[in-house]
Amino acid sequence: ETQKETLGFQTEVKQLLHLMIHSMYSNKEIFLRELISNASDASDKLRFEAIAQPELLESDPELRIRLSADETAKTLTIEDNGIGMTRAEVIENLGTIAKSGTAAFMQQLSGDQQKDASLIGQFGVGFYSAFIVADKVEVFTRRAGADAEEGVHWESAGEGEFSIATINKPERGTRIVLHLKAAESEFADGWRLRNIVKKYSDHISLPIELPKQHMGDDKDQPVEVEWESVNRASALWTRPRTEVTDEEYQEFFKHVAHDFENPLSWSHNKVEGKLEYTSLLYVPGRAPFDLYQREAPRGLKLYVQRVFIMDDAEQFLPLYLRFIKGVVDSNDLSLNVSREILQKDPAIDSMKSALTKRVLDMLEKLAKKKQEEYATFWKEFGSVLKEGPAEDFANREKIAALLRFASTAQTDDSEVVGLDAYIERMVEGQDKIYYLTGERYSQVKNSPHLEIFRKKGIEVLLLTDRIDEWLMSHLNEYQGKQFVDIARGDLDLGQLEGDEDKQAQEEAAKAKQDLVKRIQEVLKDGVEEVKVSHRLTDSPAVLVINEDGMGMQMRKILEATGQ
Ligand code: ADP
Ligand code: MG
Repeated sequence: ETQKETLGFQTEVKQLLHLMIHSMYSNKEIFLRELISNASDASDKLRFEAIAQPELLESDPELRIRLSADETAKTLTIEDNGIGMTRAEVIENLGTIAKSGTAAFMQQLSGDQQKDASLIGQFGVGFYSAFIVADKVEVFTRRAGADAEEGVHWESAGEGEFSIATINKPERGTRIVLHLKAAESEFADGWRLRNIVKKYSDHISLPIELPKQHMGDDKDQPVEVEWESVNRASALWTRPRTEVTDEEYQEFFKHVAHDFENPLSWSHNKVEGKLEYTSLLYVPGRAPFDLYQREAPRGLKLYVQRVFIMDDAEQFLPLYLRFIKGVVDSNDLSLNVSREILQKDPAIDSMKSALTKRVLDMLEKLAKKKQEEYATFWKEFGSVLKEGPAEDFANREKIAALLRFASTAQTDDSEVVGLDAYIERMVEGQDKIYYLTGERYSQVKNSPHLEIFRKKGIEVLLLTDRIDEWLMSHLNEYQGKQFVDIARGDLDLGQLEGDEDKQAQEEAAKAKQDLVKRIQEVLKDGVEEVKVSHRLTDSPAVLVINEDGMGMQMRKILEATGQ
C-alpha cells in the first residue's frame, strides 16, 4: 500500500451511519440488496461506457457479481467486474453524501428509532448499510481502463473516519469485504446467502454467482472454486407479465427506486408498432425527502435494447408525475442517445404522452380498486399531482378525476372526496361544484360563507392547501360542471333558489338600502361595495371577493413577499 491517508467522513455521513446502525436492526438483510444493487449499477455503467470504448472490457467481457463467505474468518465478500472507482471517486462516493438538501434532512431526525428508520428509508440507505452487519468494511477497487497500480483500498469501522491507500489491483471492478459483527455470522453461511440472494436479487439482470456447494465437502482438500449462478439473470421487464410474480416486481422496484418499501402499484407494458418499447412504471409507497427540490433527480431509467443508457431520464414524464419510478427500454433509439438528443426527438414526445396516460390510468385504477392505497398515494403525492392541470392542459379532466379534497360532507379534514363522488351527491337542481379556499381547515369549516349551503344541504369542497387556489385557476369545470368559489362575487345559486327566496331577497335589499349606504360611508375605501346578501343565515356580515379579484391565498402569498 502506498499514499495511505486517513480522512474524516462528512458530518451527514456520520449522522447517517449512526442512525443506520441503531435503527435498521430489524431490517438488516437489506444491506445485501444494496451492495448487489450497486454492483449491478456498476456493471450497467461499464456496459454503457464500453459502447464507445470497447477496450474498457479488457480481457474480461462477461459481467457478473460474485459472493463468497468465509465462516471461519466471519467475512462476506461481494465482488463485481463493473466500472470500478478512482481514488477521487472513492473519496467522493464513500465519504460524503452528494444529494442536495441532505443537511436539512438530517436535522429532521429525532432520535426516535422507529420514526428515524422510516425517514432513512425515504432517504435511501445505500452503501453505508454495510455497517448494519459489519464492524469493519474494506473496499478494493479499480476503475475500468486505469492501470493495475491505480487500485484503491478503502477501509473503515463506520465511525468517524476511513483510510484510503493506493494498491495494485489487476482485475477491474470492486470487491467489498465485510468483517461481520460477532452476532451477524449467519451472513457467512452459504445456504443462508443463497436464500437471501434468491429472495432479493432474482431480477438482477446479470448472473450472481456463489461457490458451488458440495454436500459433505472435505474441508482439508483445497479445490479450485467452482462458481454457479443462483439468480435468473434476465432483465425483468423483458419477461411476459404473466411470468413475473408480485414479489419479483416489488424487489425490482426497490432496486430501481433505491427504496426499501413496497410500491403501491405498477404497470408493465410492451408497445409494438411505429415505436417499440417496454415500460415498467411504479407508484412508490412514500415520497422521497427531496420531492420538492428543484435539483432533485427524477425520471426513468433508460435502456436501449436492454443496454442501460442513463438514470433519471426526465424527458419521458411531465414534472407533475416526477414521483413515478421505473424503466423504459426502447428498441428504436440509438445506443448513442444523449439527453440533448432526447430533448429534441419528436418520438420522445409521443412516448411521453403515452407514458403519461399509462400513469394516469394506473392511478385511476388504484383509486377505484384500492382505496386505502390510494389514500396513501394522495397523502404522499397529492400536492404534486395538483400541479398537473396547469402543466398538462390536455389531461386536465383525467387529472381532476384523481384529485381529493376535504368537504363539508365529511366530519373531519381528511382529503377523501373526489369530484365524481361530489357530483353523485349533488342536490336536485344543482349544476355547479362549490368550493371555499382558506388557510386552515379549522377556519374554513366555520366560515359564514357556508351558512346558506348548510341550510340547503349543499356540499362544499374545503380547500386549504397552498397550491389550491392556483390549481382552481386552471380548472374551470369538470364533467361540464363549473367550479364556483363561494367567497367570490354575487353568489348565484341558480336553480337552487326558489322564487320566494328571490322575492324575499329583493325586499330585504330594498328595506336595508339606508343601512347599506351608512356602512359604505363608514368603511369608505376599506371595501369596494356593500351589499345585502342571502348568503348568511346566522352571521351579520361577511367579506366577499370580487368575481375577478385575486383570491385570499394569493393575496397572502403576495403580501408575504412584500408586493
Ligand atoms: P446510490 O447507489 O443510491 O448512488 P450508494 O450509497 O449505494 O448510493 O452508493 C454510492 C455511490 O458509490 C454510487 O452511486 C457509486 O458511484 C459508488 N459505488 C458503490 N458501490 C459501487 C461499486 N460496486 N462499483 C462502483 N461504484 C460503486
Ligand atoms: Mg446504491
